[in-house]
Amino acid sequence: MDFLTGKDYPHLCQECQNTIDSVMPLIEEGPDTDDNEAPIMLVYDHGMFCGGHECVNKPKKCLYCNGNCPNDEDHACDGYLGDIDNLYKDEKE
Ligand SMILES: [Zn+2]
Ligand SMILES: [Zn+2]
Repeated sequence: MDFLTGKDYPHLCQECQNTIDSVMPLIEEGPDTDDNEAPIMLVYDHGMFCGGHECVNKPKKCLYCNGNCPNDEDHACDGYLGDIDNLYKDEKE
């Protein structure tokens, strides 16, 4: 069984992804399950997301392409990297 881990939930914040990873040993030692989303369900059941039963700290979407650029600068779009419209002028150095 390959369970989904934190990195499989890119829409969650890093903290929540880490939490999901941290419960993996519990899932692997627990009762057999054929639900590959068992880790995130456990996190949900125990209210272990950063906001309890949900992630309230979701990564921001790119203001240019609506993608994951602010969190993944290696694959960011040109708009974000060049900040062509100065949308990030308050956030970037
Ligand atoms: Zn979160
Ligand atoms: Zn972008």
